[in-house]
Amino acid sequence: MKLKVYRYHQGMDSPRYETFELDPNPGLTVLGALFQFQEKFDDSLAFHYSCRGAVCGTCAMLINKVPRLACRTLVNSLLKGDLKVPIFPYPAMGETVPWDPKNEVLVEPLPHLPVIKDLIVNMDMFFQYYKFIEPVFRPSDVNPEKERLMDPDSVKELELYTNCILCAACFGACPVEGQTQEYLGPAALAKLYRFHIDSREGEQTERLKKADIPNGWWACDAYGNCRRVCPKGVPPITAIEKAVEELNKQRSEDKI
Ligand code: SF4
Repeated sequence: MKLKVYRYHQGMDSPRYETFELDPNPGLTVLGALFQFQEKFDDSLAFHYSCRGAVCGTCAMLINKVPRLACRTLVNSLLKGDLKVPIFPYPAMGETVPWDPKNEVLVEPLPHLPVIKDLIVNMDMFFQYYKFIEPVFRPSDVNPEKERLMDPDSVKELELYTNCILCAACFGACPVEGQTQEYLGPAALAKLYRFHIDSREGEQTERLKKADIPNGWWACDAYGNCRRVCPKGVPPITAIEKAVEELNKQRSEDKI
């Protein structure tokens, strides 16, 4: 089995791909394979990782043309074809290099963000949009006399969105992001919706309005790749669709 890796550094005219023969090992993850590449082939290979446990979200990359976390993607499962994700086709999935999915694992940087070196992308744009939605809890009463109680169903709905680890896999998988770089993107919008539906939040209405802009809720074309690739099961498309539905309802009520 082989690992085919995207290589690029500043000054190169175009990226190149390098292929490395892997030591077979049943529990080998793509992150483990990248370590093998560094140790046995070329220690200048650059990639991000931190927790190695699908918690920090740093090792998201395009693996076999699907954005995934390298630390939790098993090489053997990829080669057996067990990890197919039915995502809507978008340009980053196109053929960049000849690749045999039965014998090779193809690793490339996350799409829609500028490549700094090899598998490392510049996440500034992703975090700029995250900052734009102001992901800070603003309770209506900062010093309540007793705890703020929530009903269990609301908590369940909220929890869908609180699991985000900011890995940007959804950002890299979103076809709209590839066409409109100003689009706030699935992760930021899901987080914004999370504050909008939080009954303890004091600015719920303002949260909805914050992304009532052409590159906010309205830019989503409902491809659904975000939900399919999210390693934590967050469904940004559901949040966006619900926000749009609410805004449309408000608009039609305003007209009456
Ligand atoms: Fe990653 Fe999912 Fe959060 Fe998107 S919503 S950044 S895929 S954890």
